Amino acid sequence: AFLRRIAEVDGAVHAFLHVDAEGALAAARASDERRAAGTPASALDGVPVAVKDVLATEGLPTTCGSKILEGWRPPYDATVVARLKAAGLPILGKTNMDEFAMGSSTEHSAYGPTHNPWDLDRIPGGSGGGSAAAVAAFEAPLAIGTDTGGSIRQPGAVTGTVGVKPTYGGVSRYGLVAMANSLDQAGPVTRTVLDAALLHEIIGGHDPLDSTSIDQPLPAVVDAAHAGAGVDLAGLRVGIVSELGGEGYQPGVQQRFDEAVELLVKAGAEVVQVSCPSFVHALAAYYLVMPSEASSNLARFDAMRYGLRVLPEGVDSPSAEDVMRATRDAGFGDEVKRRIILGTYALSSGYYDAYYGSAQQVRTLISRDFEAAFEQADVLVSPTSPTTAFRLGEKLDDPLAMYLNDVATIPANLAGVPGISVPAGLAEEDDLPVGFQVLAPATADDRLYRVGAALE
Ligand code: GLN
Repeated sequence: AFLRRIAEVDGAVHAFLHVDAEGALAAARASDERRAAGTPASALDGVPVAVKDVLATEGLPTTCGSKILEGWRPPYDATVVARLKAAGLPILGKTNMDEFAMGSSTEHSAYGPTHNPWDLDRIPGGSGGGSAAAVAAFEAPLAIGTDTGGSIRQPGAVTGTVGVKPTYGGVSRYGLVAMANSLDQAGPVTRTVLDAALLHEIIGGHDPLDSTSIDQPLPAVVDAAHAGAGVDLAGLRVGIVSELGGEGYQPGVQQRFDEAVELLVKAGAEVVQVSCPSFVHALAAYYLVMPSEASSNLARFDAMRYGLRVLPEGVDSPSAEDVMRATRDAGFGDEVKRRIILGTYALSSGYYDAYYGSAQQVRTLISRDFEAAFEQADVLVSPTSPTTAFRLGEKLDDPLAMYLNDVATIPANLAGVPGISVPAGLAEEDDLPVGFQVLAPATADDRLYRVGAALE
């Protein structure tokens, strides 16, 4: 049914870069046999899933939305993918994304943008717009995204889906093509909070192949999602972050946010206002830390080891450097080049202390703000994104306007804390989905599910 749906609507939505019908059907058949024998591999055995094209899938194309990896098929599975397979989930295919996960609209994909199923002239968010649009358009019941600065939560918000960024280290990064190692996390994109919890349980937990993986049991996310439904939140302290909301936020977004807070109060939660003064510098710090790590990570695309190799024109016996230059020029898009330049500059001697060093100090202040806020509240809440889905092309020529979309999601990545975006209804002025964000202390991912389920 999902393959049929993809065939019907993906021409207009363009959520997928690659569909593996054969592989998905074979996995589904194997699942049918396990189910018939009464031995399903997991609660989600047989439920198909779409995977963002930044996770390595053995034998299936993995492009990261870039021309530089066109045609590359990894020889191994990312741990997340291996766990999906072991749990019996058929993989429908790979979803579209901003090139190397850099963007908030999926317009930076080298393979053309994804369209928001709510309004095909609008963006589905990014960088994981393909995963969110696939779920929103009923092309997949479940998807996997990655979130470095908001790429699971913001697409979730603007497509009316649920998106979770787990605690940093909670889900293995082995086989996740790195954009910024200290920020990247893979997580679920789904239609319901319980679906997200079930998926989280499958992909999460310790992995010796990732040195930053947390070596302790995953919090009881599925129990929390069950417990949250229809509930009593008595005793729960909910902190509204003063710096994330109000001015600069679309009125219809703010309105739905305020109403959702009212629902939490009705369910018995106690609401407090908290201030995180350093959050106003989060965007600036992120756009130094992230490009710095990315510029270093992307150095591996040297035309020798992976994917594309372009020979420079008019050069008789080109040097390795000539080939590298021609390949990187042809293979990387503008946004990727912009960030490589930004990161290389920030890391260069003479500027390192002023830029990268300061950004790291700000990062520490942000973590301290979270620590102080979590003394006053069990969870923090804000709108996920300041606006609903904007029009395709609207912010493409203005990188700073594009970056501003991440203002509410980035602090969590800088501090490594988990976050969820749940649908909060449609904004009055444009009838487009609004997302409600809940943040919890590191390793307390279960709280996201308890509060998220209470809002469904
Ligand atoms: N939109 C942010 C960026 O462009 C976040 C991307 C992400 O989370 N991968 O960097």
